[in-house]
Amino acid sequence: MRLDKKTRKVWEQARTVLLAEHPQHDASEHVGLLSVMVGLRSVALFLDIDEPNATKVIRLVNALGLTAFTANDPTVAYKWESAHPPEITEVFRDRSLCKGMWVCQNRNDARLIRSGITQIEAGRLLGYPQCCIDRNQRRHADFEDAVVRSYLQKFGSDPDDLARAIAEERKVLVNYDPVNETPRTRAQFPFVQHVACESCLTAEDTPTAVLNSEYEQLVAGIDPILHDYLAGVGKATARELFP
Ligand SMILES: [Zn+2]
Repeated sequence: MRLDKKTRKVWEQARTVLLAEHPQHDASEHVGLLSVMVGLRSVALFLDIDEPNATKVIRLVNALGLTAFTANDPTVAYKWESAHPPEITEVFRDRSLCKGMWVCQNRNDARLIRSGITQIEAGRLLGYPQCCIDRNQRRHADFEDAVVRSYLQKFGSDPDDLARAIAEERKVLVNYDPVNETPRTRAQFPFVQHVACESCLTAEDTPTAVLNSEYEQLVAGIDPILHDYLAGVGKATARELFP
């Protein structure tokens, strides 16, 4: 795939603007931006942005007819069944909002995003595989359950006592062993922007594997430096995980 002259010019400028603080994260999110610029996907998202730099990129990509803007990050959907009553789980649910930068092909998606969306809705707009979207929710649910159990054990089951313990930043030891899907995704699929689920990580020709090779081809053809950087991140992560 080749970029027309105007898109190439915008990409040359946008690729150097650091939006996310962490360089690997930033590089990965730039792949998302590129995929929208060439029409491969309809939506891209940068989390934890630097606002002045975001403004630069917004101006650049708006000139291509895309709709770019800052809006709230997707929120946790909290749709799972919990073993704990709602008055307890509510104490632990974080509904604070951060800003991200969104880039959309069409205005309907932009309108929906501006009205506030959950991670499930965002995952679909961003083209993430449903199996990985579901797994992400499960991960949140398991972590919440582990946190709630630890607090219940230490502070009892009165929601006010629990809320006070959290407000006072009282520490508890949470018995939760995070599965290493994030580094494994980086090692196996360095060109995708989501965390792959276990089945995508263990089988052949999975939805994540297909996306990864699609994005890799795109980046290799347009920006070999970005390609080599992310491929290198993948190899380095694989060496750390499987020495
Ligand atoms: Zn998956």
